[in-house]
Amino acid sequence: MGKLIVGNWKMNGLGPALVEAQAVAAGLGGLPGDRLGNSGVRVGLCPPATLVERLARCLAGSSVLVGGQDCHAEASGAFTGDVSAEMLSEAGAVLVILGHSERRSGYGETDALVASKVEAALRAGLEPIICVGETLAEREAGRAVAVVSTQVRGSLPQVLAGRPFALAYEPVWAIGTGLTPTTAQIEEIHAAVRAEMSAVLGAPGAQAPILYGGSVKPGNAAEILSVSEVGGALVGGASLKSADFLGIIAGAG
Ligand code: PEP
Repeated sequence: MGKLIVGNWKMNGLGPALVEAQAVAAGLGGLPGDRLGNSGVRVGLCPPATLVERLARCLAGSSVLVGGQDCHAEASGAFTGDVSAEMLSEAGAVLVILGHSERRSGYGETDALVASKVEAALRAGLEPIICVGETLAEREAGRAVAVVSTQVRGSLPQVLAGRPFALAYEPVWAIGTGLTPTTAQIEEIHAAVRAEMSAVLGAPGAQAPILYGGSVKPGNAAEILSVSEVGGALVGGASLKSADFLGIIAGAG
């Protein structure tokens, strides 16, 4: 199955940043050997909520998927400042990142809350990308596999079985730091995540891609993406510049 490479712009990007997304779309069209057609690489960009609709408009007709970075579990209501999955979908999103560590740590999001947001995403027809990952303290205590397995079990609702989704393993200590786990460490966690997904969802849990996220750059993408059970990448900082993001995508072919 082709890799899924998704950029997370976080709280970055005003109107002028759209040119970077257009350059990504143009770059994909220009990759030698019709990379999308031949290797089936899928590419997505998740801008801030204010740019979802404009990004979807300017990428219409391209192969780049547009996504949100979070959604509320309810479809509408008195939730000041929040955005629902239905609103993202109406704006043109087809993906949504859920349970990112910056939301788990900064906003106290629990596995149960993430699972309810996953249900909301499915209700609205969005493909959720569900993030898990251990802190440095948890890794140093030898608890990385246990922590991540618990997060997977708690964040995946049963209704996911048979629906399109991706899991993203993002060690908290690798996000935005320039540090990355060894390929052996990535392989160990991805195998544990796969086992847990299969235990929770049965056969469908054996199929959804497991992305790696955390300081993926053009220089390390090909090596990371070749690790067993790495089905793609979730990319933060390096997705803000089209040249870097295209360099990462090239590593997925
Ligand atoms: C992220 O926050 O999802 C991420 C992977 O960030 P970065 O690539 O900047 O480490």
